[in-house]
Amino acid sequence: MKVLYKNILIFIPLIIIAQQPDTKPIRNKLIDEIRIENIMSTVEYLASEELEGRLSGSPGFFRAAEFAADEFNRIGLKKGFGESYYQTFLVEYNEILSPNVFELYIESNKTKSFSLGEDYVYRGFTGSGDLIADVVFCGYGLSIPENGYDDYSGVDVRGKIVMVFKQNPTWKIENINWGNGYPREKSKTAFDHGAKGILFVSTPNSKNPQKTIGSVLAGEGEQIEYFPQLHISIESADNFLINSGYTLSRLQYNIDSNKKPYSVELNTTAKIIVKTNYSKEKETVNIAGLFEGTKKKDEYIVVGAHLDHVGKQGDKIYFPGANDNASGSAAVLEFARIFALNKIQTERSIIFVLFSSEEAGLFGSKQFVENPPVPLNSIYAMLNFDCIGHGDSIQIGGGGKSKDLWNLIKSIDAENYGLMIDRTWDSGGADAQPFADAGINTAYFVTTNSYTHLHYMTDKPNTLNPLLFEKITKLGFLTILKLAVE
Ligand SMILES: [Zn+2]
Repeated sequence: MKVLYKNILIFIPLIIIAQQPDTKPIRNKLIDEIRIENIMSTVEYLASEELEGRLSGSPGFFRAAEFAADEFNRIGLKKGFGESYYQTFLVEYNEILSPNVFELYIESNKTKSFSLGEDYVYRGFTGSGDLIADVVFCGYGLSIPENGYDDYSGVDVRGKIVMVFKQNPTWKIENINWGNGYPREKSKTAFDHGAKGILFVSTPNSKNPQKTIGSVLAGEGEQIEYFPQLHISIESADNFLINSGYTLSRLQYNIDSNKKPYSVELNTTAKIIVKTNYSKEKETVNIAGLFEGTKKKDEYIVVGAHLDHVGKQGDKIYFPGANDNASGSAAVLEFARIFALNKIQTERSIIFVLFSSEEAGLFGSKQFVENPPVPLNSIYAMLNFDCIGHGDSIQIGGGGKSKDLWNLIKSIDAENYGLMIDRTWDSGGADAQPFADAGINTAYFVTTNSYTHLHYMTDKPNTLNPLLFEKITKLGFLTILKLAVE
C-alpha cells in the first residue's frame, strides 16, 4: 500500500493548473480573498483570555473547538467524522488552581516571594502541595547507581525539596543512558528518594539557557498527585544558593568538568503552595470538516493544525499561543472558508482538521491516524500548519521523504513570493509525524525563526508578522488548490 501510494505523486502531473491559461484569473481572485484582517481576528479570539490558553480538555479548549465546528457548519462543510464534526478521545488532564505560593523562606514573617509567570511556572503535570522544606541541589536529578552515576548519593533528600537541572548532560559516559529527561521521570526519581517536591532549573552554562516555559509535555508514567513540580528561573535558583557559597553556574561546571555528581545541601528553605485537579482520563476532541471533491472524491488532502496550547496556571496567568498555534488554526479555518464559500470545483476531497493534544505528545494527530475517518491509503497528502505567524521566511519540512510535494511548493513559492528557504527536514514533524509514519506524503509549513516567544506568555497576537503570515497562508492555499484541483 505504501509503495503504491508513493507512486501516485510521481505519475500525476502537478502543474496542470499552470498550463491552463484561463485558471489564473480565478486563482488570483481566490487568493485576493485571503485577508490577513480575517485571519488575525481569528487569532485574536483564539489567543484571548476567554479561551484560557486552550489546554486540551479544558473549558477554554472546548470553546475554541465549538467555534471551529460552528464555522465548518456555517460554511457548509460536511461533518469530518461521519456523524460529527468531533472525534472524541480521552487524555490526561491537570488543572492548576490558586493559590500559588513559591518563596525563599527564612522565618515566618521573613520571606522572599517569587512571582508566577516571571520567576517560575508550574510544569503542566505538577502535583498539589503545601510545604515548607529544605532545598537540596541534586545535579541532573539522575540516579543510575548500577552504572556508577548517582546525583542522589551522599545527600539525604527525605522530606525535602530537590533542585535539579531540567536538561540531561550534554556529555556521555560509556554504558549510561541518561533516560528521556522528561519531568515525570526526574520527578519519580526524586519521589522514590523521599523528596516532597522538585524545582527544575535550566542548565545555566548552555548557549541559550531555556527560560521558564509553559509545558504539558510530561513523558510517560503515573502521576504523583502530591508532588509539586516547578520550573524556576536561574535567577530564582541562585537565591536558594546564598548559604552554599556556590552559584548555579559553578555547580554545573563542577559536574560537567569531572563528569561526576556534585550534589549539595543548600541550607535554605522553600515554601510552596499549589493546588491541582488531576484526571487520568478526560474527554477532548479533534474537529474536522469535509469538503467533497468531484471525479476523485475518494482521494483526500488532509489540511491540519493543532488547536490546543498549554493552558493557564492559577487565576493570574495563561499562555495565549498566538503563534503556537492559533496561527495555523486560523489559516486552516480561512482555507476552509474560501473553498466552501466559493464552491470551488476540486477533483479530490479535502479534510480540514484541527487537532487536540499536540502539546502533550501529538495525541490528537495519532488518534486521527489510528482511527481515520477515511482509509489511510486514500489520503493523497497531509499538509500541517504549525507556528506560521512569527519570523522572517518560510520553511517547508518533510522534503526529504516527500520530495515531489516539496518541489511543488518550492515552485509555487518561487513564482509568487520567493520566501521559502531550501533547508528542510526528512519527514513528518509534530502532527505531520503520525501521517508520515503511515507512509503518507507530508509537508510541514512553518516560518523560520518562529520560536522567539514559544510557550511564553508573550506569544501574543501583537508579536506576529502579518505580512509573512499572509504570504505563508497564501502559499498554503495555492498548494492545497493545486493538489486538490488536479
Ligand atoms: Zn507548542
